[in-house]
Amino acid sequence: MINPGLPKIFYGGDYNPEQWEKKVWDEDVRLFKLANIDIATVNVFSWALNQPDETTYNFEWLDEVIDKLYQNGIFVCLATSTAAHPAWMATRYPDVLRVDFEGRKRKFGSRHNSCPNSPTYRKYAPLIAQKLAERYKNHPALLVWHVSNEYGGICYCDNCAAAFREWLKERYGTLQALNAAWYTSFWGHTFYDWDEIVPPSILSEHSGPYRTSFQSITLDYARFNSDSLLACYQLEYDELKKQTPGVPITTNLMGTYKPLDYFKWAKQMDVVSWDNYPAADTPVSVTAMRHDLMRGLKDGQPFMLMEQTPSMQNWQPYNSLKRPGVMRLWSYQAVAHGADTVMFFQLRRSRGASEKYHGAVVEHVGHENTRVFRESAELGAELSRLEDKLLDSRVPAKVGILFDWDNWWAIENSSGPTIDLKYVDEVHKYYQAFYDQNIPVDMIGVDTTLAGYDLVIAPVLYMVKPGYAKKLEDFVKKGGVFLTTFFSGIVNETDLVTLGGYPGELRSLLGIWVEEIDALFPGQKNRIVMKEKLGGLEGEYTCNLLCDLLHSEGAEVVATYGDDFYQGMPVVTRNNFGKGQAWYVASSPEPAFLKGLAGRIAADKRIKPLLETPPGVEAAARTKDGETFLFILNHNRQPQTVDLANLQGTDLLANEAVSGSVDIPASGLRIISCSNPD
Ligand SMILES: [Zn+2]
Repeated sequence: MINPGLPKIFYGGDYNPEQWEKKVWDEDVRLFKLANIDIATVNVFSWALNQPDETTYNFEWLDEVIDKLYQNGIFVCLATSTAAHPAWMATRYPDVLRVDFEGRKRKFGSRHNSCPNSPTYRKYAPLIAQKLAERYKNHPALLVWHVSNEYGGICYCDNCAAAFREWLKERYGTLQALNAAWYTSFWGHTFYDWDEIVPPSILSEHSGPYRTSFQSITLDYARFNSDSLLACYQLEYDELKKQTPGVPITTNLMGTYKPLDYFKWAKQMDVVSWDNYPAADTPVSVTAMRHDLMRGLKDGQPFMLMEQTPSMQNWQPYNSLKRPGVMRLWSYQAVAHGADTVMFFQLRRSRGASEKYHGAVVEHVGHENTRVFRESAELGAELSRLEDKLLDSRVPAKVGILFDWDNWWAIENSSGPTIDLKYVDEVHKYYQAFYDQNIPVDMIGVDTTLAGYDLVIAPVLYMVKPGYAKKLEDFVKKGGVFLTTFFSGIVNETDLVTLGGYPGELRSLLGIWVEEIDALFPGQKNRIVMKEKLGGLEGEYTCNLLCDLLHSEGAEVVATYGDDFYQGMPVVTRNNFGKGQAWYVASSPEPAFLKGLAGRIAADKRIKPLLETPPGVEAAARTKDGETFLFILNHNRQPQTVDLANLQGTDLLANEAVSGSVDIPASGLRIISCSNPD
């Protein structure tokens, strides 16, 4: 449980009273209470206000805000304010400023602007965290710590270069080992002194952000940068933990955010929280996958939905409004996938600067008579009525889909075979194949134990880390089903090719040898020709992107290519290995093929869909104490009817018994509580 202090789903969000005169604060509190808000995230961007110079700290305003909220039944998620350094700090200590990819020293401005290896930042950020902890450690309003905000970005300054060299010494020990790992005999890169190593940027190895001559250097710099920011987080974490050991600590993550290895970060977090900002045209399956990824970071523990907009965003090119009902629907989608809080950015809309057109519970008009406020207040009341019923429940899944940041970085740093290969898109294709059939999925990391899963899917497992092939072999030997795709088993963790034939360490598990890899032009396709009917799969399907040219070394050939000079070569194979099977899909198939394949391998393992639903209606489930909470979410703008088959239960929101067919309004939902079936 995130915090036993409040036995319900926390409801609220970011609140920036420092942007307003005090006379507005009383009105804020009145409105928050009307909206059934019980948690406010405060102090996110107040460093300059809290610390006007090196030695002066000013928290009186914050005392007043926190007291006022608490007196009105509102708890705080207390941020440490370190996501934007004060202007005076940048002027006096320029080491706090970042150097960008083009080598330009930044000046004061924007946010998330501090160099993570700046001695100044590393001194003052934990210091203010310490002062906040000292001041508020016994305040009854304090529920959760929120360190900094949306950590991200990358710095190429000299302090970072020096820290990178130390990080490399730690990782490789000797220059000889580093030269071997990076393959520096290529293009005359042999290093004889650690000081010869410079960050990989447009001034050195890169010809563009995603175009590097030395993949291993760029890969290690991505790891180093993620670790550098994590070290900053850790410094603040330690200060807070020292004084408030019982208060959970988080920082808000951003889903499939490329620069940070969130599996590594989550190990240092008490609870995962994240900011969900789909665009109006983001598929709902992508949002579902991101929720599942955030839940997977801590092995299925519930997470906090820290931010979402109640209506519109401001940084998209076109910032559509969430249509009536959609904010509520997407809030429950988060809960269905493991969220134990529903929180917004922000509670009152800013008057100036870049976020003044970002939606808020309280709009510029300043009163409660708006559509957005009404919808927010209704959701708040509904979440209060649910009490703690859903809190701390789990999402059971028998399918695990692997997601690995190192692999993501390595694939997209690769020079060849195609610029169109996007890791997250390929992962999502497989995710969607299960999602569309209401088969729950866990997004898992390389450290996740596989024992609880029947199926493990690893799309584009390009990088195989030490011990992972053995882990997969053990899983399959015991009866598990494993599936991977084209461009897998290619390199080790420093991006050196595993010699002796692709897919390298996965070759005996998959029972195949990949001889060549063909890249298709945009619009170019090949065909998957089924050898025989397999579940719902028969006939032909299209595939594109990359085509591996492979030979079976014992695997059964399920389908062959239909075109080109490799017509007739295997494109889908299945290998019996121990008590299980390992599948290989050698190209990127159309969705209909993946849906059929997912359905078939799930059925083989007797994994049943939660429910059969019309298109655009999602079913997801959480369980607790022998009770299942089935969420049926209608993402269509028309009402839908869903057949519950033999399921009976109670609709928690309508508070009525349900069975047979149920109607779901447009953008509406039901949560049906039932005893665990089977
Ligand atoms: Zn730096």
